[in-house]
Amino acid sequence: MACALTRIVRTIFKFSLVSIFLVQSCLASPQLDLPPISSTQRYNNAGYGLLSSTQSSINSPGNQYDVQNQNFGFSTARPSQNPSTPGVFPVSSTFRGINPDINNNGYPNVNYGNGGNPSSTLRPYDETNRDDRIDINNDPNFRRNDPNFARNDPSYAGANPYDFNRGVNTNSIDDRFHQVNLQQVRDFLLKADDQASKECTNNVAAQWNFETDVNDGTQHAALDAQQRYTLFQRGLWEAAQQVPRGAIRDYATFRQLRLLSIIGPSALPPDQLDRYNRLINDMLAVYNTAEICAYNEPFKCGLHLQPELQFVMSHSRDWDELQHVWTEWRRNTGRRVRDLYEQLVDLTNQAARLNNFTDASAYWMFPYETVNMRQDVEEVWEQVKPLYELLHAYVRRRLREAYGPERISRSAPIPAHVLGDMWGQSWSGIVPFTLPYPGKTLVDVTPEMAQQGYTPLTIFQLAEEFFVSMNMSAMPPDFWALSVLDQPADRHVHCQPSAWDFCNRHDYRIKMCTHVDMKDLVTAHHEMAHIEYFLAYRNQPKVFRDGANPGFHEAIGEAIALAVASPRHLQTLGLVQKSVDDTAHDTNYLFTQAMDKLAFLPFALVMDRWRWDVFTGDVRKEQYNCHWWRLREQYQGIKPPVLRSELDFDPGSKYHIPANIPYIRYFVSTILQFQIYRALCERTGQFIPGDPSRPLHKCDIYRNPEAGRILTRIMERGSSVPWTQVLQETIGEGRLNGEALRDYFRPLEDWLRSENLRTGEYLGWSYDGDYCKFSIETAGLQVYGGFYNAAHRHFDVTSFVTLLLASFLTTVVMMRWR
Ligand SMILES: [Zn+2]
Repeated sequence: MACALTRIVRTIFKFSLVSIFLVQSCLASPQLDLPPISSTQRYNNAGYGLLSSTQSSINSPGNQYDVQNQNFGFSTARPSQNPSTPGVFPVSSTFRGINPDINNNGYPNVNYGNGGNPSSTLRPYDETNRDDRIDINNDPNFRRNDPNFARNDPSYAGANPYDFNRGVNTNSIDDRFHQVNLQQVRDFLLKADDQASKECTNNVAAQWNFETDVNDGTQHAALDAQQRYTLFQRGLWEAAQQVPRGAIRDYATFRQLRLLSIIGPSALPPDQLDRYNRLINDMLAVYNTAEICAYNEPFKCGLHLQPELQFVMSHSRDWDELQHVWTEWRRNTGRRVRDLYEQLVDLTNQAARLNNFTDASAYWMFPYETVNMRQDVEEVWEQVKPLYELLHAYVRRRLREAYGPERISRSAPIPAHVLGDMWGQSWSGIVPFTLPYPGKTLVDVTPEMAQQGYTPLTIFQLAEEFFVSMNMSAMPPDFWALSVLDQPADRHVHCQPSAWDFCNRHDYRIKMCTHVDMKDLVTAHHEMAHIEYFLAYRNQPKVFRDGANPGFHEAIGEAIALAVASPRHLQTLGLVQKSVDDTAHDTNYLFTQAMDKLAFLPFALVMDRWRWDVFTGDVRKEQYNCHWWRLREQYQGIKPPVLRSELDFDPGSKYHIPANIPYIRYFVSTILQFQIYRALCERTGQFIPGDPSRPLHKCDIYRNPEAGRILTRIMERGSSVPWTQVLQETIGEGRLNGEALRDYFRPLEDWLRSENLRTGEYLGWSYDGDYCKFSIETAGLQVYGGFYNAAHRHFDVTSFVTLLLASFLTTVVMMRWR
């Protein structure tokens, strides 16, 4: 029994029965078991839970992976009549189910997507707590910069059953360590592993039950399970901290302890953790319930991000309508959570310090195990930037042709609202009218799939066969028996595709309301790649059952997707009858990929560059929004359609900011997927650098056991060693490298270069006015010291007139840039 837990449970729940049980158990010999908490017990703080503390854990739970592209639609197909094992493909002989002991519980509904699924938060919205505000400076319980707070506080420290230091009077770590047996530490880790797996299973099952059958009952159960799991993690963390690590020479043991010693916000004392969760709850409540009125239809209101606003952003070509939606969304989301976010920053930093980091940026960078994360991603971006600038210049030209040179300048950043989505993060929405060869349509095998009678089940059988053809694992029986591959008719399901690891080494599932179309064919392979990853590292200790770094899971899934979506593979499957091997099709295909993946890279970089700067304090609170736009301009070459000020808070209009979920993993995975894909293709002789007859984008690893062997070697180590070592030992590359992405897009790059030359495009962008001011009212007086000093050379009459206009408009909806 982890007796430290007693105090937490008492503090939080004030439940005498539970407390007594725990106290009695403290007298027993050390073990990790938690008492069963009856599902009928109710917590007095029910409603908030400790959800986000693990939701935003930097060591991602690694149990549920969602794809970036979300499926908000609903299948019209009937539910699968027989979801059990089809018996078509043999289960890998090495796979054996182990320990089917517990079957209830789970993980927070972490949104791993880059588009956000605002409807799927588990946090209930509690109106009564809306006005709670935190003033850290006046809170005597809030001890800033005190990493020993938890240990020193009488409410927390104390009778830990894993007190390896008991009776030892020296402070020398080595001396203390010699008092304990290494075997004792290993026994501790074994017990911890066993118990953590069971607790995880329970939690995952509760989350699964909720997501696949959304109702009040399952939501309560999911919240309870999450609370319990957070408590367990907290107890384990406290126990692990008591183990002196200094003299442990066994690497795996040391690494397990090190990972267990970091739990993120759960390290906060209960009242602060509660505040942390409330802040996120309140911000997400604003985000999830935000609605605006339609452009020029003031009585048509209640439009939400999904589906209405996103549809406008990707389909409308009306400049004013796009600008209306863009500004109104921000007025109703980010602007309203700015105050809350400022408080969240302080708490996140406090949590990081309790985990022995200098601030939250160091904590967020920790899983990448590098000395200088900023420099690493900067160098990779410099590798990719020349290609991005080519795409940027081409797209800017096509937009200029569509909207006119008075709105889209030849050399300025692109206004952010005409790029096809709410944030300018993926430009896929404008592919239809920027396509290099409009006459040549893209390959779409959807009609052929329908004609051949594909169903959700056969799509997944096809995906399994893809992996089996590379000598990788078939899906275990539980997968076919328990997955939800089709929209059930009798209950509400959160349809965002996701892959689940139930932490018990035999239960793995996918949840997806599969449509029979090409997009979902690729997504099915992507999701199943997550399951392959789960299976490959299933024999690792629980703490290592995760991607090698937070970008790896998605990178593997997307590397698989690159092969599956290639026209060559679709031809092999018999879904494309005629050869589509010509330059126009190739260029269109690569362009479509680039508008999603390449355009996304600088956005992903900005998301966390901004937060790193915020967490370190390099950017002050009164500079938040203008710093955001400085980075958006610097990396993405985009600008706001209207003047912004520090009254706005545009970062807060993107889900992952109020949810406090790190984002650089998406940058990493986008770079890494091409490195992995290139290595697989090079090793199997399908890609030969410099040989135009073997371009990278035409490589298909289907039926190639060598590719499967390399993939398995990458995945089977989980996070048991640093990711750089995993990569070095499997594909011979020890760091992130943007050159693989350049290789993949080489034919497109050549095409873009000559196209831009032909039309005389300006590469890059130069600042053409003021995008953000400290306050709109005083902007013209330069009261604010000027985050944009360097840009004042561009300050001209035009922008001054714009500023005057702005000062007369409380909302700047109608403002235009010239
Ligand atoms: Zn995924």
